[in-house]
Amino acid sequence: MPIVRDLDNGVLIPSKSRKKLILLLDGYTYYQNNFSCNWYCGSKRSKLCPARVKRLQSGEVVRINVDHNHEPPSFYQRDGIFVRL
Ligand SMILES: [Zn+2]
Repeated sequence: MPIVRDLDNGVLIPSKSRKKLILLLDGYTYYQNNFSCNWYCGSKRSKLCPARVKRLQSGEVVRINVDHNHEPPSFYQRDGIFVRL
């Protein structure tokens, strides 16, 4: 279940292992780096994507670099519901 519904600040969803959260923002996924406020694109390793954002403790997301070098992954979010295609 999404924890944050504000689309401007993305949506937090549990990962498969449920140990970590994934940030879904603008159709892209971001993974948290060592529980810091830095989140990196889910395709950072596979595609060397440089995109990253900061997620502040307030829940506000700062888009540091959202210049992805690939298309969004195949899932979408609608009405607060996260759907994997
Ligand atoms: Zn990316």
